[in-house]
Amino acid sequence: QVPLKPGRSLMDWIRLTKSGKDLTGLKGRLMEVTEDELAKHNKKEDCWICIRGFVYNVTPYMEYHPGGEDELMKAAGTDGTDLFDQVHRWVNYESMLKECLVGRMSVKPVAAPKEISTLSEEKKQLNGMLPEKKAQAASAKDLIPSYDWFQTDSLITIVIYTKQKGMNAELVIADCQDKRLRGEIIMDDHSYLVEVDLDHPVQEDVAVNIAEKVGKVEITLKKKDNIHWKMLGQPLESHNTFKKCTDRGLFYRKCKLVSKTEVTHDTKLFCLMLPKSTHLHVPKGRHVYLKQIIAGTEIVKPYTPVLPFLPLNFKEPSHHEGARIYLMIKIYSCGLFTQALDHLQIGDYISVSNPEGNFKKTQIQTSEDVFLLAAGTGFTPMVKLLDFALAEVSSLRTLKLIFFNKTEDDILWRNQLEELALKDERFEVQFVLSQPTKNWLGKQGKISSSLLSEFVKRSKKDSKVLICICGPTPFTEQGVQYLRDLGYSQEEIHAFTA
Ligand code: FAD
Ligand code: NAD
Repeated sequence: QVPLKPGRSLMDWIRLTKSGKDLTGLKGRLMEVTEDELAKHNKKEDCWICIRGFVYNVTPYMEYHPGGEDELMKAAGTDGTDLFDQVHRWVNYESMLKECLVGRMSVKPVAAPKEISTLSEEKKQLNGMLPEKKAQAASAKDLIPSYDWFQTDSLITIVIYTKQKGMNAELVIADCQDKRLRGEIIMDDHSYLVEVDLDHPVQEDVAVNIAEKVGKVEITLKKKDNIHWKMLGQPLESHNTFKKCTDRGLFYRKCKLVSKTEVTHDTKLFCLMLPKSTHLHVPKGRHVYLKQIIAGTEIVKPYTPVLPFLPLNFKEPSHHEGARIYLMIKIYSCGLFTQALDHLQIGDYISVSNPEGNFKKTQIQTSEDVFLLAAGTGFTPMVKLLDFALAEVSSLRTLKLIFFNKTEDDILWRNQLEELALKDERFEVQFVLSQPTKNWLGKQGKISSSLLSEFVKRSKKDSKVLICICGPTPFTEQGVQYLRDLGYSQEEIHAFTA
């Protein structure tokens, strides 16, 4: 992010888009844009960018872009889809830039997302059984999941054969809304999708059963009427496809706000209840996107689910039910999204996306020394990591949280952290304040090389270390640099970023 001039906030942009001003300079006309035409608009004072086949005149948006004008100019006069996806695939540009729409590209500039399989012929019959000759020719597709379905008087069960061991509840995301079933299986950076407009209505609840060893996933729905179904339903656009996760759009479901409790003077714990028709467990280290319509524009921001509290007993792995998502969110007095969030009433609904992020639990599973460097709400991804490391990482010797805040009042879950440190001798917490009062006897300052060399140390020579870092971007960037200078390798450091 770069500092924006006064009067150039997101809210100011929304106001401008609603002012009726002609932002494209085309007086409301839409045009077909050729590549040559697009290329001509490559200057700050005349800048067009193509995203997913649509061309926007982003000239008026320049001063409002949180990433700065130079970032936007990288795509000037070209197809910026890849660049956009790398930086913020989740930003709802269609809504934010709708008044800047110039038109469509006359020749589609981007290749369709790479699909390994669409099995399009099969879409027509939808009973999941491959014709014999197709099955013989399927060797190249052997690793791609397939599905089948069956029914009893009252149930419909969709069986997905992932052909992969180690399936678990976090890798299955199922939603059933208004007769539309969407079942996604995450397999590394790809996902397999069953997406069907069901033949008949079903009841609200969805059950997911996983046979981990054989990689079989069953999604069971309850029929509303006990009649015999002739088919599962009509395939939807992405039905039976196996694609890179990043080539799929974000899917949202509406969740109910069931409680909102104070954590500190400006931070609250929001508890959202997933619909009964959703199966979703957000993996540790991953975030979700919340979507709200603010002043008529869809705005999306990422948040990292935490636990309702820090468990203190790690004898048994904790089984947190998947029906609720807890988010610890700092409400900024001038924050566009968090102000709107804070105004939600208990019982209101908000859209929550599928999880995203690149942390893999294998990174921590065999670690001996784990260091968590958190600043402010950068504490949020550390919550589940703390729990997981203490409960399930048998190799763990030391776990240290170094928690940077401005003042004592800003420290999130301070009592719980101190209690945990007393209870579990593997865990230690160090608070560092950048704006302490005179009474503060603890560590002061910001992240620095000397502070890191004092606190981040291997418990024995060659011990397996993981250092996770999360906070404001400059904090994370400086931290990573100091750690690299101190000799920690890239594999030993995980930085949480957007
Ligand atoms: P904004 O309107 O963005 O403003 C926030 C503050 O910054 C305000 O004080 C504003 O005046 C100032 N500001 C904004 N833009 C600029 C600018 N360009 N120049 C100068 N000042 C500016 N937050 C949490 O609380 N909990 C989480 O669990 C969490 N998880 C996250 C996970 C990820 C992967 C990422 C990337 C961020 C996460 N965040 C989290 C931050 C969150 O996404 C929002 O950025 C945050 O809630 C602020 O949103 P806002 O719209 O209310 O504030
Ligand atoms: P804050 O402003 O209260 O600052 C907390 C501490 O961060 C400060 O005490 C200081 O030690 C450090 N810090 C702040 N600015 C710094 C700078 N420029 N250089 C070095 N150190 C600095 O923090 P906050 O308002 O709670 O913000 C938390 C940040 O963490 C947000 O930017 C949020 O987007 C980010 N976050 C990211 C993720 C993620 O990427 N996965 C998750 C959660 C939060």
